[in-house]
Amino acid sequence: MHSLEIKNLNVSIEDQPILKDFNLTIPKGEVHALMGPNGTGKSTLAKVIAGHEDYEVTSGSIELDGQSILGNEPDEISQAGLFLAFQYPLEIPGVSIANFIRAAKQSRLEEGNTLDAVAYYKELYEKMDALKIDRKFTSRSLNEGFSGGEKKRCEVLQMSMLEPKYCIMDETDSGLDIDALKIVSEGVNLMRGPDRGFLIITHYQRLLDYIIPDVVHVMFDGRIVHSGNAQLAHELEAKGYDWVKETFASPTVQ
Ligand code: ADP
Ligand code: MG
Repeated sequence: MHSLEIKNLNVSIEDQPILKDFNLTIPKGEVHALMGPNGTGKSTLAKVIAGHEDYEVTSGSIELDGQSILGNEPDEISQAGLFLAFQYPLEIPGVSIANFIRAAKQSRLEEGNTLDAVAYYKELYEKMDALKIDRKFTSRSLNEGFSGGEKKRCEVLQMSMLEPKYCIMDETDSGLDIDALKIVSEGVNLMRGPDRGFLIITHYQRLLDYIIPDVVHVMFDGRIVHSGNAQLAHELEAKGYDWVKETFASPTVQ
């Protein structure tokens, strides 16, 4: 019950099947890594879970703690406790980080309740300090003119402020230097706990030196073809994705 559960999910884009009978369960309290070559459907999976409308779900189910979220609006899914950190964070000119997060937190309160501004800023500044984000960022427009590393740090800030039950991070490590990678990883590690599940999507093993996953899945051609423990990420790094293609794309396996 306390899990993010994806069953037999089939997803197409423009009549092209992308996810093929995809299955994955992330119990609360666990960190799962999803690795795989480019173009295998990792970002598609993340976006479909978050309610992105471009994708056609032809069958299957997505449940968050036993409740179906398939077909819900992205905003409803977010309010239900899912956070998606995008591979390419959006820029929102004219909306400051502080106001963006404040509005998101306000929308999670019951009708008639108002977010306490003093407590909000106290929490915001504490979390910014922990993530080594300069306070001048609070008044800047969301992601506008931010470097890759600054965008990713701000995403982790949003994630930690919204306290989601499940977090999906889509290639949060791409474009990060080692210092930014460490800060983002520390943020995730601080948020790890029995009440939260993570899906860390990454092409490279590097991030998993800092965020040690409980389970590693290898995705190929729209489905998970192999799962293992953290050691599997090292094995993949050593053997390369050609090994995955050769081992799992043969006609006998399909
Ligand atoms: P990954 O994140 O594993 O690299 P993606 O989910 O981004 O893979 O893409 C999977 C496949 O779906 C690719 O062949 C990609 O070209 C295709 N695809 C993804 N999004 C779209 C889209 N909006 N329109 C058309 N094709 C898409
Ligand atoms: Mg991707």
